[in-house]
Amino acid sequence: MSRVYNFCSGPAALPEEVLKKAQSELLDWHGAGVSVMEMSHRSAEFMSILASAKARLARLLNISDDYEILFAQGGASTLFAQIPANLMNGFDSACYLDTGAWSTKAIKEAKKYGQVNVVGSSKEQRYQTVPDFSTLTLDESAAYLHLCPNETIGGLEFSDLPETSLPIVADLSSTILSRKIDVSKYGMIYAGAQKNVGPAGVVICIVRKDLLARSSDDLPTTWSFANLAKNDSMINTPPTFAIYLADLVFEWLENQGGVEAIEQANIRKAEALYRAIDESDFYSNPIDPAYRSRMNVPFVLADKSLEAVFLEESEAAGLRTLAGHRSVGGMRASIYNAMPMEGVQALIDFMHSFEQRHG
Ligand code: PLP
Repeated sequence: MSRVYNFCSGPAALPEEVLKKAQSELLDWHGAGVSVMEMSHRSAEFMSILASAKARLARLLNISDDYEILFAQGGASTLFAQIPANLMNGFDSACYLDTGAWSTKAIKEAKKYGQVNVVGSSKEQRYQTVPDFSTLTLDESAAYLHLCPNETIGGLEFSDLPETSLPIVADLSSTILSRKIDVSKYGMIYAGAQKNVGPAGVVICIVRKDLLARSSDDLPTTWSFANLAKNDSMINTPPTFAIYLADLVFEWLENQGGVEAIEQANIRKAEALYRAIDESDFYSNPIDPAYRSRMNVPFVLADKSLEAVFLEESEAAGLRTLAGHRSVGGMRASIYNAMPMEGVQALIDFMHSFEQRHG
């Protein structure tokens, strides 16, 4: 059996070295005689894994002591509700920026907890660009400003942040650790692990410590960020195997030269793929070039009737899961950290050959 290039948006490809290391430790982790899956989350062994994951993440993103690193559960979608439940307490409203499908989902959940002001939206531009930040209708007395800097479905990414005194709460599910960020500019960062961090089942949360005071005692015990922090993410049994894999991915990233090095690799991969799309009339990508995602590259064929053939042939060529999200169709190549340049080049070569045969 051979591995293929996997362009799935999530759960996404993991670095082969990580999977091999996990495989070699699967039955007997460091002489413990059991798998990580089988050991108590309160054992010294697992506590050392958790501490290592936190320490590596803090180093990779240069996270200061002003922030708490939490491992939450329920996926990033649960955080869409958990965030307003914790952080809107004591405030009348929260501000949300609407740049696509995932922002929209976050807005829908937040409305269940309080007033949501959508301070800017690119809906009318079919989410193909990002609203001009100078036009945002920010209310500086709101609880926070929520945004999603990489819209996984639309393939839209922005790196600048609006000027505001509000804590910025960002869904980095599909971009965390792919590029340098200044954590000190955020009140809270959260990210479902299953794209750039590890397997599904854990959500990385980086929360500025002063915001923890907003969590009310009335919240469900496991939903309170303050409780999670107080209990070192172990109010109850955490997703131990997912945290272990995350630690191995962080170790792999450190060995790659950290976020700066992986960002350069990500730039090269994205540039090569967008160039291939732009140089051809056969393929196109609709996103404003200033905001094209480095992680998720959607594209369509000029002749839509060929899309099913493209997907069938690409799959047969060992290029897996190139279908766009079910809500938008077309194609999408997710090229997260673990996708090597060789995989992107294999896709580009396939696109050229497909165009020659069908164009
Ligand atoms: N936010 C973004 C940007 C995503 O891409 C996704 C999943 O693809 C989610 C949130 C939802 O994540 P989960 O499936 O972990 O709830």
